[in-house]
This record gives sequence, structure tokens and C-alpha cells, in this order.
Amino acid sequence: MNALIQPCQISHTGLVWNNHFHRLGPDFYTSLAPQGMPAPYWVGRSFAVAEMLGLPASQLQSDALLQALAGNQPIGGTQPLASVYSGHQFGHWAGQLGDGRACLLGEINGLEVQLKGSGLTPYSRMGDGRAVLRSSIREFLCSEAMHGLGIPTTRALCVVGSDEKVARETLETAAVVTRVAPSFIRFGHFEHFAARNQLMQLRTLADYVLARYYPDCQTASLLAANPYANLLMQVTERTAVMVAHWQSVGFCHGVMNTDNMSILGLTIDYGPFQFLDTYDPGHICNHTDRGGRYAFDRQPEIAHWNLYALAQALMPLIEDKALALQALDTFKPVFERTWQQLMRTKLGLVAGNDNPADHPLLQDLMALLTQDRVDYTLFWRRLSQAVASQQFAPVRDLFLDTAAWDAWLLRYGARLAGVDQDETAALMLKTNPKYVLRNYLGELAIEAAKGKDFSMVAHLLTLLERPFDEHPAFETYAGLPPDWASRIEISCSS
Ligand code: AMP
Ligand code: MG
Repeated sequence: MNALIQPCQISHTGLVWNNHFHRLGPDFYTSLAPQGMPAPYWVGRSFAVAEMLGLPASQLQSDALLQALAGNQPIGGTQPLASVYSGHQFGHWAGQLGDGRACLLGEINGLEVQLKGSGLTPYSRMGDGRAVLRSSIREFLCSEAMHGLGIPTTRALCVVGSDEKVARETLETAAVVTRVAPSFIRFGHFEHFAARNQLMQLRTLADYVLARYYPDCQTASLLAANPYANLLMQVTERTAVMVAHWQSVGFCHGVMNTDNMSILGLTIDYGPFQFLDTYDPGHICNHTDRGGRYAFDRQPEIAHWNLYALAQALMPLIEDKALALQALDTFKPVFERTWQQLMRTKLGLVAGNDNPADHPLLQDLMALLTQDRVDYTLFWRRLSQAVASQQFAPVRDLFLDTAAWDAWLLRYGARLAGVDQDETAALMLKTNPKYVLRNYLGELAIEAAKGKDFSMVAHLLTLLERPFDEHPAFETYAGLPPDWASRIEISCSS
């Protein structure tokens, strides 16, 4: 029987599970059950993700599901597993890594459901298989925040906590994030089999990804009818689009190792990420990243570097080096085009209304934001409001060099002359978020959650699901961060 159309199973929770990845066979994973956590409790829940899975809201409040997602109860119909992958970490080949603390339960509605922090696996290496409450809340909120911003990302159904102690720099408590995505396959999965010269498995994996996620690569003759080159090209394009979004919104991933790069071009593995407060292109958000390999402005070139690592792994299938290079060469134009378009929209310069003067206008603005260390999110939001009201003083207040700002504003005003002001402002308000998950907001939610108050996690989720809307009760969360925000240090420890 075709491995892709096996029958589904219905669990006691009424969910219909499918297990496509499991059918790839044991070369790709180890079957195992998640390890339970004592006395679990809900920390955060996304009813939007539940709906996507077809999970009734009542279930997301049930003890049965709480126990199941904490690993205390098996779920009928699932075939849990930890997958094996390798990767380049900080530019160096790291060899075998794998799901050291994640467990793929299976698939519902074509979406994989994975527990992160669910205990030891054969790939745990020196780790304990756990994730701490702090990093789990950050991943949960940021996944949903990115989705709210329209940025490709894995999603998160919920965070379940426990008082089980976990040792990091200090003693913390354990939590499990239930993550959801069409696939959790990473560049590193391909690198794993290529590095071991397991070409049959490499082809099986590539064919699986092609058939399930990139069906048009098999038929389209984009690159000499070579499906693997087509795949590389489409992954390259999706990755370029994803990173362009990150750059436009001021998102810094922090650990762009090849094992943290999704084959679907989704933002994945939220660790020491940060939304910029002040605009600093060289900002390093990961305290562990001393050399700044993953600094904000290096993200595009690093993504491209990672795609070269993927291409290297796919070479036994692509065979033709020139084709692989052709696929990789799409990165820069796609990134540049997407970024320009996103930034132009942030400025209210609608697509199709191109103007050669827009490029220097944007470059000069970015230089000004950098020079005056202007708060990135606040600037764009205030600019959007100013275009609506024609009151630019609140934007001017963000600059030190007000003469330079005034000069730029004159050029911008001239550029906007004649456009429909209300339409432009409406577009900008839908493009420039009022709320992003600033580090300090995450920290406040985490501190409260450590004391078992989960209300701020819920409030932030509400805001971040609709980041372009006004939420008058939470105006302070849209303001400048407090002074202590710049002293927060986020490392790889999670
Ligand atoms: P990350 O830096 O979170 O992307 O993780 C890199 C690798 O380390 C992956 O193979 C993870 O599964 C593994 N890992 C990270 N933290 C732990 C942990 N606490 N226990 C076991 N494995 C871990
Ligand atoms: Mg990872």
C-alpha cells in the first residue's frame, strides 16, 4: 500500500491521528513514549491552534488532555518518536544531534504535534530531556506572536508546567510545549544521512518531503526537471522570504544553526530570540554568541550559508553542481525583493507604485534610526499614527538629531503627496504592529508564572494574536521598554 495513504486511527480524545513520518521507518527515528511529569498544570493555551487541529475548546480545559500532553497518559492512535538529525552549530559540523527532548506524537489534520521537553531520548547527549518553564513560555508566546505578524512559523498549542525541578544555571521547574507544524523536518535531517553516506535514506527523506510538501517540484521543470534542485530552490526562496520578514519586523532568531532551519521555511526553535527594542543592526541577542555570528544584520547571509549546507547534503541527489548553484542564487534576489516590498509597505508606499527615490529614502531612514538608537517598533507605529493624524511630533520625540529627522520628514512628505492619506495610514497600521514580544514583557510573564500567576501569559497571547489592533487596557505594553530591559541577558540555556 502507498505509505502516504495508510488508515488513520481515532484516539480516546476523539482526535484522528495519522503518522506519516513514522512510516519512513526506524532509520529516521527511535520510537519512545514521552516521560511523564508530576502534577501538571496549564500555563498557557492557544484556542486558535486548538481550533486548527479540530480540538474542541473543552478538551483544552480537560484533565485528560493535560495529563496526556504532560506525558502521563498515552494517546490512542499516536506512534510517538524522537527523530534523528545532525547539523552545523555556530558554523562547525556538530555531528549527530536529534530530538534530544522532543517527541513527535503524530499528525492531526495534516499537522504534526510534537512535545518539547518531554524527557530523555537516545539523542539527549549530555542533556536531561527537559525544557524549563521560562523558555517554554517564550517559545509558546513567540510562535503565536510570529503567526499574528504573518510570519511563517511553527505554532504552539499550549504549555504545561510541573513543579519538577530542572537544573540550569539555577534550579528551575520543568514544562512541556506542545508544538504544531506541517513538519518539523530540518536541514539537519538531510545533513545527517548525507554525512553518513546513507544515500538510500537521503533519497527516501527527500522524496517524502517532495511528495508531501512540495508536490509541484516533482512535475515543474523549473530547473531542468530535476526535482531535488527544484526542492532546493523552493526551500531557498521560502527561507529568503522568512528572513526578510524577520528583518522587517526587527526579529533576531539568535541560534541559526542548520538543525534549527525548517525545510518548510518556518521559523523554528525559539531560544534566545529577541525583537529589537532600539534599532541596532549589529545587535546580538544570544548571550552565548560571543562572536556575533547570529547578530541581527547577519541573519540573511547566515540563512544563505545554511542553505549551502543543505545543498551540500542534497548534492548526491541533485548531482549537477551548476543546478544547485542556480537554485542557491535565488536567495539574494528573493530576499532583496521581499525585504524592499515589506519595508515600502511599512512606509505606506504601496506595491506597484514604485519610485527609484524610495531606496535612498529607506536607507537614510534606517541610518537615522541606527544613529539615534530609536525604538524600532514604536517608531513605525507612531509614524503610522502620524500619517493618519498628520501630527508628527510624537515621532520627532524619538530622535536626538531632530534636524536630521525634519529633513527626512520633508522628503517623506513630498513622496506621500497626492496619495490617499486615510488609505495609506490604514495600510501602515495593518503593517506596523503595536505589540511585539519584547524581552521584558516575556520576563514579566515568566516571573508571574513562576509564582503560579498565568494571567500575563494569557494577556500577552491575546495581544500578540492581534498585534495590529488597539488594546486600550494594555497600552503600557506598547510603550518604551523600562531601563532594565537592556540588561536582560538571554543565553542558549533553556
Ligand atoms: P537547541 O540549541 O535547543 O536547538 O538544541 C540543540 C540540540 O541539543 C538538539 O539536539 C536538542 O534536542 C538538544 N538539547 C537541547 N537541550 C536539551 C536538553 N535539556 N536535553 C536534551 N537535549 C537537549
Ligand atoms: Mg534546536
